[in-house]
Amino acid sequence: MTIELVVRDAHVYVKRGRELPGGWVAIKDGRIHSVGHAGEEPEGLRTISAGGRLLTPGLINAHHHMYQNLTRAYAPVTNGTLFEWLTGLYPLWAKLDEDAVYLSTYVAMTELLMGGCTTSMDHMYVHPKPFLIDAQFRAAKDIGFRFYATRGSMTRSVEQGGLPPASVVQSEDEILADSVRLIETYHDPRPGSMSRLALAPCSLFSVTERIMAESAKLADTYDLRLHTHLAEDPEEDVYCKEVYGCTPVEYFERVGWASKRSWVAHFIYPGDEEIGRLAHAGVGVAQCPCSNMLIGGGSADLMGLRRRGMRVGLGCDGSASTDHASMWLEARTALLLGRYRNGPASMSARDALDAATIGGAACLGWEDEIGHLEPGACADLVVWQMSDVALAGAHTDPVEAWLRCGPAVAGLTIVNGVPLIEGGQPLMGDLPDVLARHAKQSRRIQCLPA
Ligand SMILES: [Zn+2]
Repeated sequence: MTIELVVRDAHVYVKRGRELPGGWVAIKDGRIHSVGHAGEEPEGLRTISAGGRLLTPGLINAHHHMYQNLTRAYAPVTNGTLFEWLTGLYPLWAKLDEDAVYLSTYVAMTELLMGGCTTSMDHMYVHPKPFLIDAQFRAAKDIGFRFYATRGSMTRSVEQGGLPPASVVQSEDEILADSVRLIETYHDPRPGSMSRLALAPCSLFSVTERIMAESAKLADTYDLRLHTHLAEDPEEDVYCKEVYGCTPVEYFERVGWASKRSWVAHFIYPGDEEIGRLAHAGVGVAQCPCSNMLIGGGSADLMGLRRRGMRVGLGCDGSASTDHASMWLEARTALLLGRYRNGPASMSARDALDAATIGGAACLGWEDEIGHLEPGACADLVVWQMSDVALAGAHTDPVEAWLRCGPAVAGLTIVNGVPLIEGGQPLMGDLPDVLARHAKQSRRIQCLPA
């Protein structure tokens, strides 16, 4: 019985209510083998000292659009509303191809790892060319990242009353056939899986009723999860009332989505009773604090939703609306936003850490294996790096210090038992080449000189 790796001398946050000051974590076969207190460390093939730093489960990103890092901080739309921002960027995103999506996924996953994230979903809903999600799975495999892809879709172009140009939307039959192909090719439901897939029509106003209903049926057939944007913008209420004669949440229920299979992004404008109904149905929510604040569109009440019984995770949302992909920054912003909204006693750093770990895992229906460090869990963890200057004077609570001091980045990020970030640096050798190619693609997409 060989332990492959022991990370020692850490403040280990195993899960809520179980912390081991001066603790260690032992890893074997991509799993947490054991955890314990100083002095009881087992022998491992390799031992890494955390230098007394905080060690947490890897953070889990419950909502993202990785391709958008090709158009970050795009000047013509930085001050637009959500709908202005979308209509300004769709013509650029219409130029996506397999190479651009591979590179943007690679960059996004690297950036996520540097911010302590070890599992991410991605909501890929723009399909000007085929096989874009295939390119994402290739990038995840090349890096060794635990990836939960979602097959996004849009059927309504400008001509049908939607926002995007016709070149990025698809027919119902095309979407459904490609969903089945992707499920059968990539979705691995087995324990310890590195690749899973959920179905994710972009939003209620961007696809037909048939796509919503058929996606729910496919999810039943293949035992999959479902994801979409819900109650993100007040204009969605106006649209749903006009087109469907009901609220977004009522429509969500009508098409068979109010179930344990579903988690939704944002959920800013539901009615009080609607929150109760979706909580009862078991729907999860990904709050995206930075994206919501940048776009100035309000934000979900994380702790309020949790009290109502909803599972709430965090997401960094599209890299063009948030412009970064640091789950640490999302956790810190969630904490600031929660306390700004409801007072200093309403939320702690541990609440934010829970949302960023086990909350995200619950959104993905994966809390048995990720989002905590109990023996048997997937060996996905992070040792946080903060400067001695930032930590000077912080002696009494390493978890509060982690979000209140900072900035914090990942010093060591381990996925499936394998270090991918060490000494704060990504270990992927081809990163310089990927960044150079990413720069070329993003300049092409933004019509800038090479
Ligand atoms: Zn989004």
